Amino acid sequence: MRTPLIAANWKMNKTIAETAAFFDAFLPVVRDVTDVDIIIAPPFTSLATAAEKTRSSSVKIAAQNAYFEEKGAFTGEISAAMLIDAGCEAVILGHSERRHILKETDEVINKKIKAALAHGLEVLFCIGELLAEREAGKTNDVLRTQITAGLAGIPSEGIVVAYEPVWAIGTGKTATPEIAQEAHDFIRSLLAEKYGDTAQTIRILYGGSVTPENVKGLMACPDIDGALVGGASLKPDSFAQLVRFNR
Ligand code: PEP
Repeated sequence: MRTPLIAANWKMNKTIAETAAFFDAFLPVVRDVTDVDIIIAPPFTSLATAAEKTRSSSVKIAAQNAYFEEKGAFTGEISAAMLIDAGCEAVILGHSERRHILKETDEVINKKIKAALAHGLEVLFCIGELLAEREAGKTNDVLRTQITAGLAGIPSEGIVVAYEPVWAIGTGKTATPEIAQEAHDFIRSLLAEKYGDTAQTIRILYGGSVTPENVKGLMACPDIDGALVGGASLKPDSFAQLVRFNR
């Protein structure tokens, strides 16, 4: 009922030439995959190249951020309309690096989600607790706040949630399938409070040091519908292995 989705977040990596080379190697190896959705989020400068390379494939291109205003004096920002123009079909919003390094608040993220959806972009909405919050027993409180504030006034259509415990991102410390499933189950219950039965149709991805070695165990969990992958998405062969997790 929920098609698995494997998404790549390249963060601040790859030139235009490296992006083109990635797709030349990656696309032939995943051409036969029709039962898993694939999204790749290159940096802004590579979006148009990525969109051009994937035009005749089922791979969707996402941006890693978008601003909520339409246009104007917002130096350095990129609007949702500009992303559509560059060939994007989706956008990652609320990533922990933007929350914690670039100090994005739930309120700003909420505005960004609204703007992205208004332009027809699918939104990969990231949430997750810090290590100190987990150790203090506050994980569920953090997830509740992020969902409630981040999705305030927002319908469920076009939303994918990515649970990314901050302590697992880029650290090599993956959450165990049990820990991840427990959080995903809780997130789905929050979505059910908000959206009722529709919560069963919303995809919840796990992110945090997912690799070809651990993806199967995570994907076997009933509420884990896919993965958002950083480091292991940068090489065509390892990302292809992740996309082909069920083969
Ligand atoms: C991410 O950036 O969303 C991520 C999960 O990174 P990594 O897979 O490298 O932990």
